[in-house]
Amino acid sequence: MPGHQNRRRVLKQLAATGAIAALPAGLGACARKGNDAQVIVIGAGLAGLNAAVLLQDQGFDVLVLEGSERIGGRVYTLDDQPHKPDAGGSEFSLKSYARILDMITRLGLEPIPWRGAGMQFAFHVNGQTVAVDQWPASPANIVQGQAHDIPPMFLSGMFLPRPSPLSDLNAWLDPAAAQYDVSFGEFLQSAGAGPEVQRLIASRAEGDSLDDISELWLMRSAKFSEVSGGIEPLRNLKGGMSRLTDGMAALLNRPVATGVKVTGMQSGEAGAEVKDATGKVWRADHVICTAPLPLLRQMVIAPALPPLQASAIRQIPYGHHIEVFFDIVEPYWEEDGLPSSIWTDGPLGLVLNLPGDTPTGYLWLAISGQASKGLRQLPEAEILPRVAAELERVRPSTRGCLRPMTAHNWSTHPWTQGHLAYREPGQITEFGGVLAEPHGRLHFAGEHTSRLAGGMEGAMESGERAALEIILDSA
Ligand SMILES: Cc1cc2nc3c(=O)[nH]c(=O)nc-3n(C[C@H](O)[C@H](O)[C@H](O)COP(=O)(O)OP(=O)(O)OC[C@H]3O[C@@H](n4cnc5c(N)ncnc54)[C@H](O)[C@@H]3O)c2cc1C
Repeated sequence: MPGHQNRRRVLKQLAATGAIAALPAGLGACARKGNDAQVIVIGAGLAGLNAAVLLQDQGFDVLVLEGSERIGGRVYTLDDQPHKPDAGGSEFSLKSYARILDMITRLGLEPIPWRGAGMQFAFHVNGQTVAVDQWPASPANIVQGQAHDIPPMFLSGMFLPRPSPLSDLNAWLDPAAAQYDVSFGEFLQSAGAGPEVQRLIASRAEGDSLDDISELWLMRSAKFSEVSGGIEPLRNLKGGMSRLTDGMAALLNRPVATGVKVTGMQSGEAGAEVKDATGKVWRADHVICTAPLPLLRQMVIAPALPPLQASAIRQIPYGHHIEVFFDIVEPYWEEDGLPSSIWTDGPLGLVLNLPGDTPTGYLWLAISGQASKGLRQLPEAEILPRVAAELERVRPSTRGCLRPMTAHNWSTHPWTQGHLAYREPGQITEFGGVLAEPHGRLHFAGEHTSRLAGGMEGAMESGERAALEIILDSA
């Protein structure tokens, strides 16, 4: 027994330092008789794949069940499109994405300069299109006060408290930070942001209204950006981000079982069970579920989760997001003399001209939150022509210069049903880190459960944490 306790202590210390690679291999053996695997992981996105790879490295027999026919989840390189754009996660920082970078190195992949580097913007605001240097004097700029000359994309950051009252990436969960867990709209009002500033910030925000978002949630994101070191350390992945998730899946001894929609999970004394949509029951010692909350809400979990965790799963919202792509066949900016990328306060969201396989590259439209209101319920085939018509209206020089490629609506995507989890005012204080709490032999991961990092690195972090829970349980 003392030896066992000692081992547990060592493992806990290793977990605390994140030194999982130093753990002795072979903690696990083959699956218990009658089980399908020692660990079943639900979801083949970054969180699930990272958990599976780490557990396999430690000798566990792992099986990943994926509902869709594709591996990668919200990492999705459109390999069948010109320029092979990324429709999901694609940017990472050399400063704060240690797990992503380790896996890139392990797989022999290559980071490339960030595609957005050096990009120049025009603004389309209040119905007028202006270049960035014309913004301060433009009649389209009706911002009052000290924020008048600030380009609209920097307004949100300007009003957040600086330096950040969050001392580190963990501090958003400290009780002392609860004072900031208030409506971002109310905060902006009290900080003197006028109605036009609020309107411009809201036009690009994750929620449908600034009152839907906790100021503390935005402070958490800003802290991660600060640690990420701004724009200079940003990178993309050569060949697209799916090369990472494809490579991670290829590391697994057992192929990911695709087309398996999980509908329920059960934790018992001796093991755990997962039920799929065909009624088949899969058995393991432990289960890690990485399904995004809109999908987790549909699962039957037994025994019932504690009320606070169940309520967090029910209530924590997801933002809306549509991506639309156009191939650029002629350089439309030569006709009107404006920068090729456009920041808009309307339904086009952010329009970026990214480098691709041709000298003119392609257009990537990121239409989030409020901007997506009129589009998000439409089938993807209807979104593309509507956006093309709006682009021609906003920027007449694009007429005849663009070839529509595709639209991808994350809000109605069957396996995500949203963009990213965020927090409404009061939800951080109420729910804290409860989404990550294990429930018997059921463990939870996915970007919505991350504590320190955001985005893709947050997903990796959450998979690592869930894998460590199981390693510690099994030691
Ligand atoms: C448009 C967009 C742009 C982004 N840009 C960036 C960026 O530039 N940088 C960055 O760091 N992050 C970015 N992100 C965020 C990043 O992509 C995500 O945080 C990360 O990929 C999430 O990984 P995950 O494993 O938590 O979830 P997911 O990738 O969503 O994986 C969950 C998996 O579970 C599966 N699943 C769901 N339900 C079931 C079920 N019932 N049964 C079986 N399987 C199920 C899904 O099919 C999916 O494969 C972006 C996200 C989006 C959508």
